[in-house]
Amino acid sequence: MRAMVMNRPRERLVLEERPEPAPGPGEILVRVEACGVCRTDLHVVDGDLPDPKLPIVPGHEIVGRVEAAGAGVALVLGARVGVPWLGHTCGHCPYCRSARENLCDAPLFTGYTRDGGFATHAVADAAYAFPLGEDLDTVAAAPLLCAGLIGWRSLKAAGEAEAIGLYGFGAAAHIIAQVCRWQGRRVFAFTKPGDAAGQNFARSMGADWAGGSDETPPAPLDAAILFAPVGALVPAALAAVRKGGRVVCAGIHMSDIPSFPYRVLWEERSVVSVANLTRADGDEFLALAPRVPVRTTTRPYPLDQANEALEDLRAGRLEGAAVLLP
Ligand SMILES: [Zn+2]
Ligand SMILES: [Zn+2]
Repeated sequence: MRAMVMNRPRERLVLEERPEPAPGPGEILVRVEACGVCRTDLHVVDGDLPDPKLPIVPGHEIVGRVEAAGAGVALVLGARVGVPWLGHTCGHCPYCRSARENLCDAPLFTGYTRDGGFATHAVADAAYAFPLGEDLDTVAAAPLLCAGLIGWRSLKAAGEAEAIGLYGFGAAAHIIAQVCRWQGRRVFAFTKPGDAAGQNFARSMGADWAGGSDETPPAPLDAAILFAPVGALVPAALAAVRKGGRVVCAGIHMSDIPSFPYRVLWEERSVVSVANLTRADGDEFLALAPRVPVRTTTRPYPLDQANEALEDLRAGRLEGAAVLLP
């Protein structure tokens, strides 16, 4: 098999030939057909996240087929599966026992603490892989596996909001904007100031309004979701939400949040973060996506161009999501 490997953070990924791994009990060997590139991959590669397994194969938006299965796996060979960020949980910590496996004390994360999908093959815990139907397009489905799932969990955390702000209009926001419109919400999209192309893209995805993150939206927001990893957006979003409004931080990492006057938080505004996903989030979202139907905008890259895909994501040059094709 071939894999793009990170030996140390802040170094370029290196293409490696490796022997094909054998799945252990409860595991599957997946032949990767497509793997999305997520901002979290960028945080792994940039060393923003502590203690990655090293060397590590990044990538946690895997669409592929079961090529081999270990003992006790119900999935049939050839079945289409999606492998997400949540790679394994312990099943017995207080979080696992209270339907919050996303907060498990001893988890494994695909592409961070176990090898992921920037490769021709990946081994996954079968219990955390989602069966995918045959009707989804391989490339189009890849961004659903994290941008979609984490976006969905973030949208649930935003609550009943009718007018919702999405800060950072990348892979997750372009999916969640479609879900919001389908649910009858109004969408206000915020991009980097002056990013006219990004604002046009947001409007084309159904946003009612699009502007710079330094702009005041034309109506107060009921809630906001921050997909951009920029701490200064927290007070900006708090200032844009109405009394009782909620600001949801969807990313795994964010630059420091600057201090701000208490009055922007007062009147029962709140700030919450979303961490990881549960398998229930995934089941819900993957059932809902074809009903919307969610259409993803993707840019394909060959596997050996993973560094270029990450660089394009970092530079904000992408419309929608980058997807690697082995
Ligand atoms: Zn646990
Ligand atoms: Zn992700």
